[in-house]
Amino acid sequence: MIDFEFRKQVMDYHMGSDIIKYCYQCSRCTDYCPVSKVTKDFYGTTGYDPRKNILNALLGYKEAIFNSDSLTIWGCTVCDTCDELCPQNIELTEIFTFLKNESIIKGEGPDFLYSQAKAIFDTAKAIPSQSAIERRRQQLDLPAVLSPNVDEIKTLLKNIGLDKKLKED
Ligand code: SF4
Ligand code: SF4
Repeated sequence: MIDFEFRKQVMDYHMGSDIIKYCYQCSRCTDYCPVSKVTKDFYGTTGYDPRKNILNALLGYKEAIFNSDSLTIWGCTVCDTCDELCPQNIELTEIFTFLKNESIIKGEGPDFLYSQAKAIFDTAKAIPSQSAIERRRQQLDLPAVLSPNVDEIKTLLKNIGLDKKLKED
């Protein structure tokens, strides 16, 4: 079923420039996508498929995207290969970023992302300090890692509304 509001949101991203770009489903994005290649090796034909994502997004088939497995939205690693190779200059990763943001707004992102966001919110570090890391740095004669200002980072993150998107443990 077409979701016209969703389609309009996708098109707003898609038409960031003045030029209207049409995807003619050549599949070049999927053919060269490294994630597609790896996941197809694992899962066969159900691997990650940017061409199909673009088709569903541009047609407004919201359910086909959001009712699918998390690989559909989160498989893209933003390596930008497809953006570089698309003969129609479609900025696929812009549209995929929109899909990821929608997934987070719906509270349906993968758990590891919420945990990592919480770690950054709580400690101002993506990877909290560990004594093993500190020891290794000393062995390598590297300087100690400076402690970030957690309160300052928290304030910045609150200003962009991150605290409202975190999940309780
Ligand atoms: S997004 Fe570009 S590369 Fe991918 S199928 Fe459409 S036209 Fe081809
Ligand atoms: S940017 Fe994403 S969809 Fe495009 S080739 Fe890289 S992993 Fe695949």
